[in-house]
Amino acid sequence: MAANIRIVLKSGKDQSLMRKHPWVFSGAIKKMYGNPAEGDLVDVYNNKDEFLATGHYQPGSIAVRVLSFLPTEINEEFWFQRINDAYQYRKNLGLTDSMDTNVYRLTHAEGDNLPGLIVDNYDGNMVIQVHSAGIYRNLEMIKKVLLKVMEKQILSIFDKSETTMPHKGPFNVKNRHLMGDHTQGIVKESGLHFKVNWVEGQKTGFFIDQRENRKLVMQLASGRQVLNMFSYTGGFSVYALAGGAQTVHSVDSSTTAIDLLNENIQLNFKDANHQAFSVDAFKYFDISNNLYDFIILDPPAFAKHQNVLHNALQGYKRLNQQALERIQPGGILFTFSCSQVVSKENFRKSVFVAAANAGRNVRILYQLSQPIDHPVNIYHPEGEYLKGLVLYVE
Ligand code: SAH
Repeated sequence: MAANIRIVLKSGKDQSLMRKHPWVFSGAIKKMYGNPAEGDLVDVYNNKDEFLATGHYQPGSIAVRVLSFLPTEINEEFWFQRINDAYQYRKNLGLTDSMDTNVYRLTHAEGDNLPGLIVDNYDGNMVIQVHSAGIYRNLEMIKKVLLKVMEKQILSIFDKSETTMPHKGPFNVKNRHLMGDHTQGIVKESGLHFKVNWVEGQKTGFFIDQRENRKLVMQLASGRQVLNMFSYTGGFSVYALAGGAQTVHSVDSSTTAIDLLNENIQLNFKDANHQAFSVDAFKYFDISNNLYDFIILDPPAFAKHQNVLHNALQGYKRLNQQALERIQPGGILFTFSCSQVVSKENFRKSVFVAAANAGRNVRILYQLSQPIDHPVNIYHPEGEYLKGLVLYVE
């Protein structure tokens, strides 16, 4: 096996790796002994020639994503251990053999010590999203390992990395099946049913990360007039109806999402007091006079990069203000941000300003985050991306 290319860091730039943070930024590099290609394995040393980590190289601001802090050969056994570890973790926590939920995230990138690799399991249909060339080059091996770890549970494997790979590079990335040809299915979450189309849908097909937060909606929605803004295929809407909401209105700008949402309502209820609107969220607030005492705001990431952070915070403020101005006294507002670059504190500040501008009294009932199958590696706080507040508004 060819030796890994050696990368030496500038003096003092080894601190974050010593604290097991799994990224090396390009500015920390003093010297590279060779010219690594995108996705090559590299060994990282400090400037005293001490080994720090092995990882995948990529051009750009994050130059190395660390796979191991010990000298380790990155081979099939390595991938097996990491993916099996992710599986056993979920098994230990009761996610893999649940009677009422058969959709969960199997690997959550850095959160499972697998930088660049997302695998979601839709009742045996595995949907992969790759975020690094290093992982992309190992996809065949990862497929083999998935089949070994999950044994007979896998029906199909779909690689959906076309939009997630950072540089298309030489790989000609196209979404494709690596095994089987299933494109959609009906999954169960908390005993409720959802049709998921992982080929045509957004992300891997369903927003699995909201599972626990949806349960809270179910608990609190009884008798309420609910507005589910940015509803996608109706996750929160179905839970709100299951929780005894009086009416539910769902709003999403995507007509494909709304069509699937209507199917999902029918899958679960013979008769539901539900209406769906395919319209822009801000426009809906402008044109509708409907009264609500329960509003859910789960917008797409407003900021994908640090340089648009300010605009994103303005966006959250504006949106929350519109909801807070409209919600009935005694109302409950669920508000989320899934932008990784927006911190919990910044998000809360935006909502605070929105509340002040709307002139409402607001109590924080819950502070929400992401579920156990989207774990945060304590050494990689950037992995905590989903933030939510549940507010009681007077
Ligand atoms: N809450 C959903 C996930 C929301 S994802 C769930 O639990 O499944 C964000 C959604 O916002 C997407 O469905 C997207 O189509 C929609 N969206 C994006 N921009 C929008 C806008 N300006 N107005 C309304 N919907 C929008």
